[in-house]
Amino acid sequence: MKGEQVERYISPRIETGPYFPGRGDFRVLFLNTNPYRVGVVNLGWQTVVEYLLVACPFVSIRIEYADTIEYAHLEPLDFDLVAIHIPFETNCPTAIRMLNQIGFPLFSRERNSSFPIVIAGGVYNPFPLADFVDVFVLGDGRLPMVELVNLCFGEKGNKQKVLEIASERKIRGVFIPNLCGAQEQISASPELSLNEYPIHTIWSSEDNVYGLPPDYLSIMVALGCRYKCPFCVVSHCQGIGRDRETEIETNRVLEILNWRREFISVKTVKLFFASSVNVEKLKRIISELTKEKVDVLVGSLNCRQIDEELVTLLKQSGQNRITIAPETNQNQRWKVSKEYITDERIFEIVKLANKYDLPLSLYLMYGLPGETDKDIIELGKLVKEVRRALNSSLEMQVHCNQVYLKPHTPWQYAGQISPEENIRRFNLFSGEFTGIPKIEVKTLDIYSSILQSLLARSDKEMGKLLVNLAFSPSYDSRELMKRVEKLIPDWQRYFTERELPEEPWSQIVFQDHKILWQRWMAFKKRLKQEGRGE
Ligand code: SF4
Repeated sequence: MKGEQVERYISPRIETGPYFPGRGDFRVLFLNTNPYRVGVVNLGWQTVVEYLLVACPFVSIRIEYADTIEYAHLEPLDFDLVAIHIPFETNCPTAIRMLNQIGFPLFSRERNSSFPIVIAGGVYNPFPLADFVDVFVLGDGRLPMVELVNLCFGEKGNKQKVLEIASERKIRGVFIPNLCGAQEQISASPELSLNEYPIHTIWSSEDNVYGLPPDYLSIMVALGCRYKCPFCVVSHCQGIGRDRETEIETNRVLEILNWRREFISVKTVKLFFASSVNVEKLKRIISELTKEKVDVLVGSLNCRQIDEELVTLLKQSGQNRITIAPETNQNQRWKVSKEYITDERIFEIVKLANKYDLPLSLYLMYGLPGETDKDIIELGKLVKEVRRALNSSLEMQVHCNQVYLKPHTPWQYAGQISPEENIRRFNLFSGEFTGIPKIEVKTLDIYSSILQSLLARSDKEMGKLLVNLAFSPSYDSRELMKRVEKLIPDWQRYFTERELPEEPWSQIVFQDHKILWQRWMAFKKRLKQEGRGE
């Protein structure tokens, strides 16, 4: 393949969407660290790839997934640039494995200038991968990627020079671990205006994780969330460009639908948004889409915003369940900034679910700072009462996970419960439903749960574990802990509460870390006042 010109967009399988004609001789390889059917529906990489194809007429792009790369027979020198999308911490070992599968030496320092630059996007804490990746793009990848691609195109084959120029230019959202001083602040790149540069499905496939035919269309309706719950990474790391439009207009949604209809007769529109979306606008969008005779699907709804009009609209538009996220019991809801969700409000929503014959899903969590066993038992009791109030013919799902303490949130400084405590608290919670039919409880498997807790707030040292898992995968939690103990004997430090506002990722700025620390201090003060802190 080296030296050949290639089609501008080459996918490993057939997808429905626009075809980019022409040929480009600057070859970009996009690695998606999810398996095809999961990765193909992700809007993040699609948005970046489409933006690049339009902005840089000289590129050709090839995309490979965690389960397609093995059969692709690629060489690093076939490409001028490699971009990796890493949407979750648990994808980090896959990123290392994929680079190795196409022949990259393991560490970035072992790759001479003839190797293409490796850029990673999607992470909030780049440090565990800092030894394996040349450049991280933090926040919205579109503008930084175009700048980096232009730079690489101008200085083709001179990786070190590209890195030095990129470092000097201080491109917003670009972090180059080997050239960045420990004191230097790197601000994340804010999203582009959602109306001018909307985020939606560009390509779809019949082999997708939704189990839908390829005639679906996903649209991002709103970015970020103004409630900024202290554990929530979405609200702290998305929608950070306050001067830009972070909500889409109804007519723009209809334009996107009509654009998509040029490629396929759209049957289902999935709307993505977080809780602070303007509910009147949301109703208008659903109502207009219903007139267009498409089914509309939405995810979790804000308990404050659910009313009969919204539920009627959703029912008419094909929505098949109500999903809400009360998170915890009423006594603890102040901790997650959700005091407004009273148990009374939850039962009002249950009545609407009954009236409109809609199953109910609840998102809950445990492991909050200052939590006691009594809190967990009360949460279990609430779930049982909701089950009793919901019509027996309606299905009820409960998604309950430990809270994951993520960088760039006020709880980045909190203590994470240990893996054993995680299992104990989940068993305490789910034990409340023994013998009670029609409550389906779902939780993340313990292996992924431990890995996520370890990686979210870790540092370069964690690279040892990532390499181990990349080349000798194990999905057994006991085996994982054995390896952790051996490779990183003081691993508990990733779980303990922070004494000072000093984190490896403090130099990465999605939010002002001083404000995050102040919020954490204020939280601890209240915890003490409530008799729950030390
Ligand atoms: S309401 Fe939901 S989306 Fe908004 S900050 Fe809280 S958890 Fe995040």
